[in-house]
Amino acid sequence: VGVMELDKMDENDWKYHGEGNKSLVVSHVQLSRVLRLLKYPAEDSENPPQTVEQAFRQIQNIVDFSSNVMSSLLGEKFIHSGEVVKLPLEFVRQLSIKVQHQRPAWRCEKVMDIYSGCALCLPNLTAPALHQPAHTPPLCIEIKPKCGFLPSSKHVSKDIKTKVCRFCMHQHYKVASGKWKRRSLYCPLDLFSGNRQRMHFAIRHLIEEPQNNLKIFKGGQCIYSSKEGSDDAMDLTSLLHHLRPYFQHGNKRINSHMTSKAVLNDFIQVLVNALLSGGGGDGGVVTDRQGEGRSFCEASVFNKERIRHGSQGLPSDSVLFRTLQTQMLDTLDIEGLYPLFRRVEQHLQDFPKERTRLQMDGPYDEAFLEKLQKCPTDDDGCVEYAVAKVHQYRVAMTAKDCSIMVTLVPRSEEEEDDEGLSSQRWLRDFLSSRPPAFSYSVSILDLDPKPFDSIPRQLRLDQKIVSCYLRTGGALP
Ligand code: ATP
Ligand code: MG
Ligand code: ZN
Ligand code: MG
Repeated sequence: VGVMELDKMDENDWKYHGEGNKSLVVSHVQLSRVLRLLKYPAEDSENPPQTVEQAFRQIQNIVDFSSNVMSSLLGEKFIHSGEVVKLPLEFVRQLSIKVQHQRPAWRCEKVMDIYSGCALCLPNLTAPALHQPAHTPPLCIEIKPKCGFLPSSKHVSKDIKTKVCRFCMHQHYKVASGKWKRRSLYCPLDLFSGNRQRMHFAIRHLIEEPQNNLKIFKGGQCIYSSKEGSDDAMDLTSLLHHLRPYFQHGNKRINSHMTSKAVLNDFIQVLVNALLSGGGGDGGVVTDRQGEGRSFCEASVFNKERIRHGSQGLPSDSVLFRTLQTQMLDTLDIEGLYPLFRRVEQHLQDFPKERTRLQMDGPYDEAFLEKLQKCPTDDDGCVEYAVAKVHQYRVAMTAKDCSIMVTLVPRSEEEEDDEGLSSQRWLRDFLSSRPPAFSYSVSILDLDPKPFDSIPRQLRLDQKIVSCYLRTGGALP
């Protein structure tokens, strides 16, 4: 297996991997690498919205924001920031033609950038390099968890926002506006609770209605995601068909009786374990015991009475704890933040050159991180305080919109033999329904900085979601 040579790029070595709202991703057919290319609105396709230099700067900003800011807040062990690459334009053009027919129709209101030749090169987290092709392919679960806490800011004007979480309210709005046909019963507060039962319940609802919050890959190939986004073969039956061999270890004769429900339960249990772990290393023991009481969403269909075991809370070195802590840098809520945004905006109108000193659009370096970490607790009325709160809010927005990727590599049979896993031993495993052994790693991806100018839009969206929920949502089952 060779290395990637940027001057000898061949579109036949790359295939469509997936996309989000802002970028399209292709993966290498042999190397564990992906290229993440920018997208922009189809109306602008004849006319690129930015110069090559601006595109390069945008991607460099993404790398800097991820490696200098987000990685120190979320934990370096979870982050792969990647590097900016300059690709031959002919390669990019051929690539865009090649992938076009594989793109889901609902994503095609945007087109891939074919003018700048700039892209972000990252390790392919769905197909880790350490995996040997002869072995059972790795499984990879991508969760976009969204915001895991209820706002407690005194600036919140509608009481409902302190009772029903943003995701659950947003679901009603998305169904009312036709974005999705069915409401998801996933609630982020259950996932972030640290209570295994609630987490299990949350993941089960992610599987039932994945929307854009869950994708599952096998050997680098997406085998499960929202139905709208792909061919209709991706139903629960086919997912179970893929998962069964991973959980039916040892004596096949007995395990052939394993029900679909048991396969799904084992799968979810492995996932919960990975999410509560320290991310592949040794697990920590310090936990956030206050966590659970703080957040219960009234719209969650999880029945509180069903909690059999008290919560241990989230371990402080777990990916969920670090993500939640970063999300909670949004202390004022958009309603309390907006007046500070206006203060900054006014200041920049009066003194345009201050935009650079205040690092409104980067650079995302140590000084930027320091600005948001050394924010005074009280508003002294000056612009520095407002800037620090705006920076904190933008970082929190990124953490509310990122994805968590859990890669599971099945332990090879040799490894199991090494442990002396006799047929009698696995039988005990089966009887106690202990999930089988995987090596795993946990990463966080999609850590782009959110633009300063998107803040007014956030306020309007918040108002629309809340008023829609108050009009229709609370009444629905
Ligand atoms: P969003 O709309 O969520 O903001 P985005 O446009 O910013 O998404 P990403 O989420 O970064 O784009 O990438 C789109 C998809 O590509 C991801 O959901 C994931 O499935 C896949 N992907 C991104 N980076 C990697 C990676 N390093 N390895 C494997 N797959 C990846
Ligand atoms: Mg994404
Ligand atoms: Zn909720
Ligand atoms: Mg994104």
